[in-house]
Amino acid sequence: MDSKEFRTRGKEMVDYIADYLDTIKFRRVTPEVTPGYLQKLLPDEAPSKGEDFSDIMKDVDAAIMKGVTHWQHPNFHAYFPAGNSFPSILGDMLSDAIGCVGFSWAASPACTELETVVLDWVGKMIGLPKKFLHDGGIGGGVIQGSASECVLINLLAARHQVVRQMKKRFQFIEEGLILSKLVAYSSKLAHSCVEKAGMIGFVKMRQLDVDEEFSLRGYTLECAIEEDRRMGLIPFFVCATLGTTACCSFDNILEIGQVCNKENVWLHIDAAYAGNALICPEFQYLIKGIENANSFNFNPNKWMLVNFDCSLMWVRDKESLTSAVTVDPLYLKHKHDDYAIDFRHWGIPLSRRFRSLKLWFVLRTYGKEGLQNYIRQHVRLAKVFKSYVDNDSRFETMGPTKMGLVCFRLKGPNALTQKLLRMINESGKLHMVPALLNEYYIIRFAVCAENAVDEDIKYAWDIVSEMADELMEMRQS
Ligand code: PLP
Repeated sequence: MDSKEFRTRGKEMVDYIADYLDTIKFRRVTPEVTPGYLQKLLPDEAPSKGEDFSDIMKDVDAAIMKGVTHWQHPNFHAYFPAGNSFPSILGDMLSDAIGCVGFSWAASPACTELETVVLDWVGKMIGLPKKFLHDGGIGGGVIQGSASECVLINLLAARHQVVRQMKKRFQFIEEGLILSKLVAYSSKLAHSCVEKAGMIGFVKMRQLDVDEEFSLRGYTLECAIEEDRRMGLIPFFVCATLGTTACCSFDNILEIGQVCNKENVWLHIDAAYAGNALICPEFQYLIKGIENANSFNFNPNKWMLVNFDCSLMWVRDKESLTSAVTVDPLYLKHKHDDYAIDFRHWGIPLSRRFRSLKLWFVLRTYGKEGLQNYIRQHVRLAKVFKSYVDNDSRFETMGPTKMGLVCFRLKGPNALTQKLLRMINESGKLHMVPALLNEYYIIRFAVCAENAVDEDIKYAWDIVSEMADELMEMRQS
């Protein structure tokens, strides 16, 4: 394809995207396909000769779209939002066109520098202490591909730090022996990526009980650390969550931070979804005590209108991170590397896309106020949905409903709610996913669409309520 054809096809694609998003509400939210559907529709082998672009687009409609779950649909209420917006799409388009691989400052200076600028902008927007910023201390922020990577890389950094400290104290101690005694902590409601980070990092991961608000408290952590030290283990890492996946509950950062500080344990805060809401001052109380954290992450690709992937991570002391993963071959060195930032030392992959462009586009197009309005609208709509649930005596809500998520269930045995959710999802009119809270099966209703309005919430509730009527009738007959 030459640039002449690209101009034509590119314009067609922009129209295709705009039409898709403008008319998305007329589609089923979830596709009606079974595993292997696409193999039956596509040839067994790649074409030997290039094909006409129009033929490819015909297959997008005939084969690909048939199996797409429409995450941007106004009736998609599963998981958490998948960030998306026109400025973000345009930012990614430009990033793809520039096509640089920004592993070091020299590999594309603007790529590294824009990342540091926007990470400081966002850090200030969410109220991070100055020491977490590039412009202000020994810390700084970086874009990672996912919250899972953020948790893992900080666990590895914490592991490196504690091994270094132990080896300083006991010069001849075997690293393997230290590793066998390391223990990390999270609440039982932490995302599964925390458990996975423990598996990859080859350390014990203790999942601690939460209180009646589904929050991990300092006292619980303190008791666990004390118990483990008595058994000769070495506590080294805590992952606290702001906005748990199951019910969007909040661990008590202030209490946990004080314990971590006293016990010399690395505190990472995973705020993948809810961290976005910190751009609204009314939610900043949730990070009270953040100064005791070593690292923090949240995903604008969940709830700040930025397309996947864009997970932001800050550390209080960058050396504690980079020293854990720095490998420095000659071919990656450059003449400014003694003082410029090389983000290849801040994470697992070497190659990095120009992801800050889409974030920068979004921040500039909406401004802080536009993004605050978007978050507040979702928070308000969740409360509207909760009021519908609260006014129907067949249902009950569980969890805090502080952000854009409502957890609810039919009173009675779990099987009832399970059946209700199956009926709703099979209808293709609405999509939600379940979770378990204290052994109760609950349905998670997440406000997801960028332009969600009251009518969408009313529509969703009407479907839930009608299906519940149907279920009750089925049970009686
Ligand atoms: N942490 C929390 C609290 C989450 O809710 C999620 C996903 O929803 C994750 C981590 C994992 O995010 P990612 O897909 O970016 O790894």
